[in-house]
Formats: sequence, C-alpha cells, structure tokens
Amino acid sequence: MIKREDILKDKPVIIAGPCAVESQEQIGSIALKLKDLGVKILRAQLWKPRTTPNSFQGVGYQGVEWLKKIKAKTGLLIATEIVDGENIEMVKDVADILWVGARNMQNFELLKKIGKDPRVVILKNGLVANIKEWLGAAEYIGFDKVIMCERGVRSGCDSMRFTLDINSALIMKHDKGFPVIIDPSHSAGRSDMVPPLAFASIASGVDGVVVEVHENPTEALSDADQQITPEVLKTMIEKINQIYSVVHQD
Ligand code: PEP
Ligand code: MN
Repeated sequence: MIKREDILKDKPVIIAGPCAVESQEQIGSIALKLKDLGVKILRAQLWKPRTTPNSFQGVGYQGVEWLKKIKAKTGLLIATEIVDGENIEMVKDVADILWVGARNMQNFELLKKIGKDPRVVILKNGLVANIKEWLGAAEYIGFDKVIMCERGVRSGCDSMRFTLDINSALIMKHDKGFPVIIDPSHSAGRSDMVPPLAFASIASGVDGVVVEVHENPTEALSDADQQITPEVLKTMIEKINQIYSVVHQD
C-alpha cells in the first residue's frame, strides 16, 4: 500500500488523466501517453457526480478491470473518486488513492466510511466551504492520510467557472501542515487558463497539481472545455519543473 510520504517523495506531484474514464481504449491510450511524460499518478474516475441526471454518469464498476490492466502494464498509481460507500470495496484491488470530490466534502457518512480505509485520500474543498468546514472533513477521514486539493471556489465573478483560492491552499499547507495540491482544471473551466493557473499554483509553493488531460478534448463526455491535450501537458510539465526548482532552490 502506497503511503502519503511515498507520494510526496517525488515533487512536484503531478496527477493527470481525463475528467472521466470513458472506455477501455480511451483510458488505456491516455495512460501510456501520460506515463511517457513522466506522470506517476493517473486520475481515473469511474463514477462521476454530475449536476444533471441525463449527463454522462461514468462507466462505473466495469472500469475496474480496465484499470487493473493499465496498472499491471504501466505501473501507474491509480487515484479514483468514491461517490458511495460501496465503491470503496469495489476498487480495493486497484485504487492506490481514494478521492473525495467537491460535492461530497460534507457527505459525512461517506467520509466516515472512507475514514475506515487505510489508503491515502485526496480531499477537495466544497464549492463554498470555509477553512473550518474543509478541516472538519479532513478530520472525519483522518488528518494523517489526507492530501488537500484546492479546486476553486464560487465567487462573485461569473466570467470563469470557479476562482482559484490560493490563500486557502497556503493556509492548509503552512498553518495546518497538510500536503496540498491544486486543481487548475476545475478552477479554470477552460483549457487555455489551465497552464497559467498551474504555474501560479506551483509558484505559490504547493506540492503539486492535478490536471485533466484528454487526447481529444472536444469529444470528451464531460468537461470538454477544460481538458488539455497530452501535448500541452508536456510543455506545461517542463515549465512546472523549472518553476518548482526556482521556488525551492534554497
Ligand atoms: C473531478 O475532479 O473529477 C471533479 C468532479 O471535480 P470537483 O469535485 O472538484 O468538482
Ligand atoms: Mn472534470
């Protein structure tokens, strides 16, 4: 079982993958490309909490077998979102990192169940959660196995999907002592904003980023506007590594 300190040994932490697993071919192909780019952790969401019931809900349990094959072939670590207590058992042989999405940050019964599992958990902030509420969620899961993920908050500004709250990320990192990663994809809501927000994130001193990547973003079944291509990710990683080394040079 991978421990939190093992994940954090290799910084900046870069987690990448599509918004959602869509098919065996799609996730298999992107996984190989991401591995070639040096990514070690694949975001592989099988279940998707969606705003409306007619939108793509994820491939569900059938994707577990696909992920097992990818893991055996590539050695990538698998991070996957848990939306229901039953999912925890379903992914027990394949997921290295469990994930709590923004909409479930205050699903306390779910948090309690995830808290019983020993695996590392990525915990996103709720859309309008304050620091105290985000911390409370981490306490349900267990402070020592959580990686906090800032994913943007609702603000008065309607030109963007969300507003990246670097302040909160830094409070969690420096005042509260958590490892922190930032999700520039959901903060931005549009692909052109993802690299600059990722650069700002790394420049702020957090431990890493999680980015949505799709080989054919316009065809994506969810979050088509914000997914970047592997080609964009490649140059983004090069710059991220440069920024990280400048920020942490002494
Ligand atoms: C996700 O990362 O897959 C996602 C749905 O984002 P969030 O929970 O931050 O909205
Ligand atoms: Mn998404």
